[in-house]
Amino acid sequence: MKTTAGDVCTLCGGPARAVSPGAAFSGVTSDIKPWPRMGAILCCEACGHVQKRLDGQWRADAKAIYDDYVMYHLSDGAEQVVFDAAGASPRTARLIEGMSAAWSLPGSGSLLDVGCGGGAFLAAFGRAMPGWKLFGHDHCAQRRAEVMAVPGACGFHCGALTDAAAQDGPFDAVSLIYVLEHMPEPVAELSRLRALLKPGGTLMVMVPDFAQNPFDLAVVDHCGHFFAETLARAAELAGYEIVALGRQWMAKEVGLLARPRPGGAPAPKDGDPNQGQALARTSLDWLSRTVAAAKETARALHAQGRPFALFGTAIAGSWLAQELAGHVDCFVDEDVLRWGKTHLGLPILGPAQAAPGTGLFLGFPPALATSIAERLTQAHPHLTPLLPPEQP
Ligand SMILES: [Zn+2]
Repeated sequence: MKTTAGDVCTLCGGPARAVSPGAAFSGVTSDIKPWPRMGAILCCEACGHVQKRLDGQWRADAKAIYDDYVMYHLSDGAEQVVFDAAGASPRTARLIEGMSAAWSLPGSGSLLDVGCGGGAFLAAFGRAMPGWKLFGHDHCAQRRAEVMAVPGACGFHCGALTDAAAQDGPFDAVSLIYVLEHMPEPVAELSRLRALLKPGGTLMVMVPDFAQNPFDLAVVDHCGHFFAETLARAAELAGYEIVALGRQWMAKEVGLLARPRPGGAPAPKDGDPNQGQALARTSLDWLSRTVAAAKETARALHAQGRPFALFGTAIAGSWLAQELAGHVDCFVDEDVLRWGKTHLGLPILGPAQAAPGTGLFLGFPPALATSIAERLTQAHPHLTPLLPPEQP
């Protein structure tokens, strides 16, 4: 096991150590481009937070990724669509459905969405809460017009958050939707946001849950890999009390609602380092076994003259395509906007366009893969869904 003197946990400041096994995996960026390396995975010996090693290599990688960032490029800029047994719907609409069951927000108020991108979360929130004033914040002003076109949008800020607060704050709610995992100092950021909230205001956070979805570890620019306990701990360390932890608001993700802890409340007790260690180790091991199983299956199919396809062109499919280079014939995707395009040099087909007998490898956590396989078998009986290995 490799250790580097001076690796410090980004949540609690405790000593962080490299997780074994440290297979030399490739990586993928959060805007779905291949990357030559995943980066070292560390786990904190004090609180169990799993994180990337934020060394010079990682900082150079992150800068290169953000300098060339394109959201949703395979869908021509349209927001990602979630497909499941309930049908297809935009990701943020599905998220609001899950989150709103846990919140008790008044009929009117003000929301600041930090890292708002093109305003997808603001738009979905505004549809659920039409009496609210909506504000967006992003690191650059490129998408200001899109955000301001969202019904209910009252302001867009970039640059210092304190300027947003001075002009339009404090806010009844502040949201960080798929943002905290990109922040090298998550606790410091959450602490700063506390000052933007009214007393009793609501913090809303959503992040990938690597305990549900090990593929999150492969995302190079995700420097924090949260699961429910470490997400809650980050908020507690930043001075919040947890209102709700959402393990089921969205498949493969975890969210929380929290409010500023009234002054004088005791600091939270230590986390459980063993939980993070075990989760990180089994997740990396499962990724290794998944790649090995997919290679073996591809060889067997090719020996029968049958194509081997990856299902989905998002993070997992794109990462697997790199790890399985030379073994994959095409992608199959349910998103009609992607059909007929190529991704990583491979064609993207709709399920109906794939040749009979195509083996369709489902790069998803096992339980989710099983439910997708059932759905695909009914809808497209000419395809053979292939499940990943079980998780321990
Ligand atoms: Zn820690």
